[in-house]
Amino acid sequence: MLKCRARRWQVGFSAHRSDGAAVSEPPPHNLTVPDTLAARPWDARRGVPIPPVSVHERDGSTVVDFVTVNGPIALSLARARDCSLCGQAIGYWVAFLGGPASHAQRRYLDPPAHPECMLAAVRLCPFIALRHHRRAPEHRVGPDTASPPGYEHGQPDQWLLGITRRYRVEIQDDIAVYLPAAFKRPRTFDYDAAGHVREQPGTMVEA
Ligand SMILES: [Zn+2]
Repeated sequence: MLKCRARRWQVGFSAHRSDGAAVSEPPPHNLTVPDTLAARPWDARRGVPIPPVSVHERDGSTVVDFVTVNGPIALSLARARDCSLCGQAIGYWVAFLGGPASHAQRRYLDPPAHPECMLAAVRLCPFIALRHHRRAPEHRVGPDTASPPGYEHGQPDQWLLGITRRYRVEIQDDIAVYLPAAFKRPRTFDYDAAGHVREQPGTMVEA
């Protein structure tokens, strides 16, 4: 059985809710959200769509936990070339999001997604959108969570959105590792003086 894993870039959603309740709502703010992502159930309190990898079965009930990636669901989606954020088929290009080390090594613990869905996540996810968003205390991380050594932890100063055609998956110590092929030139995000994520000038030409 594949373990689940703390999702570093979504821990901002952790807050206090784990009852799984969700309602459909229009996208918040003026953010453009891909139709496939907008079609997901929405977390009313946070105003964000609920990715399939954030849905967990625990003690016989379904819960939404944004802190933890549902490892088996993530792996199943990735093997089918389906998006980890909206659950629909990924087309020609596939996106991976992470810090400079993940990008340089092309080794990710977070599964792939549509480029459009990943761009929406950059704006929607508090752990990405706001600098130094507080991480979830250890006790809020699910009991079935594992995180292998040798990978980036915490919030990077810079996020890189890598776009490629292909990837493969390896299982290491019951953790799925996603290994994309060579990237096109990445889109790069950092933080402004107020701590809000921004796309760095000159990287907005692709994807
Ligand atoms: Zn998607």
